[in-house]
Amino acid sequence: MSQRTGVLLLVSGPSGSGKTTLCRKLAQEGEAHYSISCTTRSAREGEVHAKDYYFLSRKEFKSDVAAGSFLEHAEVHGNAYGTLKSEVLEFLQRGKDVVMDIDVQGAAQVRTCQDPLIVASVVDLFVMLDREEELRDRLSGRGTDSDEVIALRLHNAMEEMSHADSYTYRLLSKSRNEDYRRFKSLLTTERMRVSRLV
Ligand code: 5GP
Repeated sequence: MSQRTGVLLLVSGPSGSGKTTLCRKLAQEGEAHYSISCTTRSAREGEVHAKDYYFLSRKEFKSDVAAGSFLEHAEVHGNAYGTLKSEVLEFLQRGKDVVMDIDVQGAAQVRTCQDPLIVASVVDLFVMLDREEELRDRLSGRGTDSDEVIALRLHNAMEEMSHADSYTYRLLSKSRNEDYRRFKSLLTTERMRVSRLV
């Protein structure tokens, strides 16, 4: 009775909400596999290919789309992002939980995906900040992006937050530790769903 299928945890939220940190920490603690996405954006300082993202050219990305390699893909902030099926399906089949950092368009695609394995495993969470100033501070504080990029991200963040109601769960960000405690407890709870027990 101890076997179960994996949980596919979709995590969305504006840049600066801390969602990437939450997802990464879960993976570092060995609680879930972090689905490494493909992107056509350039690597930021310190980012490593095949660890943070698979950094692809537009041509490579297009050919992966044509080959049907993606579970979902979308244009975000002027770049293409996509989740490889190989980063998700095999893990779920083995009963391993998968966590995905994904934008609202990608999450909508996964939610409507007909694959029974995905339908059975998906859980979606939106990480939210309650004040625009808090978001602006967090976006500026990262120090890796230009003012122009920060302004675009703030605009996109407000748009992104308008989709929060499409998610089953919402985490209103408070502090790193408290956010992580609640985040992890969602996964712990979802593991106990009777429908996941095989
Ligand atoms: P960043 O460039 O700051 O790492 O990510 C920008 C946005 O792209 C974030 O909202 C992030 O959640 C989203 N994103 C990252 N990976 C994927 C992916 O595989 N698919 C989709 N649709 N969005 C992604």
